[in-house]
Amino acid sequence: MDRVDCIIVGGGVIGLAVARRIASVGLETLVLEREAVHGSHTSSRNSEVIHAGLYYPSGSLKARLCVSGREQLYRYCDDRAVPYRRCGKLIVATSDEECGTLHDYLESARRNGVTDVAWRTAAEVATMEPAVRCTAALWSPSTGILDSHLLMQALLADLETHGGSLVRRAEVVGGRLACGSHRVLVQQGAMAIELEARLLVNAAGLGAQAVASQLEGLDAATIPPRYLAKGHYFTLQGRSPFRHLVYPVAGSGGLGIHVTLDLAGGVRFGPDVEWVADVDYAVDQTRCAAFAAAIRRYYPDLDATRLQSGYTGIRPKITGPGEPAADFCIQGPQRHGIEGLVNLYGIESPGLTASLAIADEVAARLGVADATATRSGAQDR
Ligand SMILES: Cc1cc2nc3c(=O)[nH]c(=O)nc-3n(C[C@H](O)[C@H](O)[C@H](O)COP(=O)(O)OP(=O)(O)OC[C@H]3O[C@@H](n4cnc5c(N)ncnc54)[C@H](O)[C@@H]3O)c2cc1C
Repeated sequence: MDRVDCIIVGGGVIGLAVARRIASVGLETLVLEREAVHGSHTSSRNSEVIHAGLYYPSGSLKARLCVSGREQLYRYCDDRAVPYRRCGKLIVATSDEECGTLHDYLESARRNGVTDVAWRTAAEVATMEPAVRCTAALWSPSTGILDSHLLMQALLADLETHGGSLVRRAEVVGGRLACGSHRVLVQQGAMAIELEARLLVNAAGLGAQAVASQLEGLDAATIPPRYLAKGHYFTLQGRSPFRHLVYPVAGSGGLGIHVTLDLAGGVRFGPDVEWVADVDYAVDQTRCAAFAAAIRRYYPDLDATRLQSGYTGIRPKITGPGEPAADFCIQGPQRHGIEGLVNLYGIESPGLTASLAIADEVAARLGVADATATRSGAQDR
């Protein structure tokens, strides 16, 4: 049986960021990815926004890891020439009631240490974004956009530089946990292989609960439920009327149908929220009318014939419809009692923004210190 120091299940942005972090201290690290292409699920089906961190409850992992991860990510993009733009975002209120919500966001931003968020009047917004109508807005200058595919390429290249590797078409179908030597069963085509590692990280995204439930020795009571909230995107054909990201006040289950720009200047609107039972990325064309109505609240001149169906993504939630949004769930030995194991559940937005900070958090929970630790020196907690 082959043995490595660390196995990561899942080659999305979280698995790759964690793998890079762990490999950077000299531990032999292997990422197992079920698909033929890494990052082909949630990590490439999102808004590609670098969030400032203003919405999340203060003290939550989402708030802390978004704020620290955002600055880490901007630095990383600079260092590794990953394309990004710190374009800023307006959050617009279209009623007095929504203005009240903006005040709440401003307070929440300050509590989270996001100190650059500023109030903008309707007249000020009109000069920034002439196509947008609102009663007032918040301006977040540290929000940006990035190329998530090139981010993952850079993380993978770093992993390989540190001697780690990604194995594609390698599905984890079982495992047995034991302190110091976790075993996983991997299906690669017709071949089943068993691998052993001292450290095991479950970063399987939408598949995290399924992977965890296959690990013998893990208390099933620690596995949270899985809920799926699908989001559609529609693109706007032709020239962009926007220079910044424009978000409405957040709705239940998501941040509302917002304007996202891509690095080529294209405009996409989304995502909406549809609770679904299965992972199915088909686009429901009939949602176009509801999109047009939501967009016209802040962009009244929308020509709906310019809307084209785009793509969908699915939020890996751990609370269901009508329940309060959950925090990121990063379970280490303190939660499940098994040394050398971390399970990540519910890594929805702002997971992309927070990816590098999440990697540090996972490393800490595994007792993997920093780049000065040696292969034999890094100890489990
Ligand atoms: C609609 C939407 C919009 C979003 N917008 C933003 C945004 O603008 N900004 C932001 O910061 N965040 C955003 N997010 C959140 C962000 O995209 C996610 O937090 C992040 O991509 C999660 O990455 P991941 O690696 O955990 O999951 P994934 O990318 O899904 O990766 C998990 C991987 O595990 C693999 N896998 C599953 N089971 C197995 C198995 N048994 N064996 C081997 N491999 C397996 C899968 O094939 C997959 O590649 C958004 C999310 C959604 C859904």
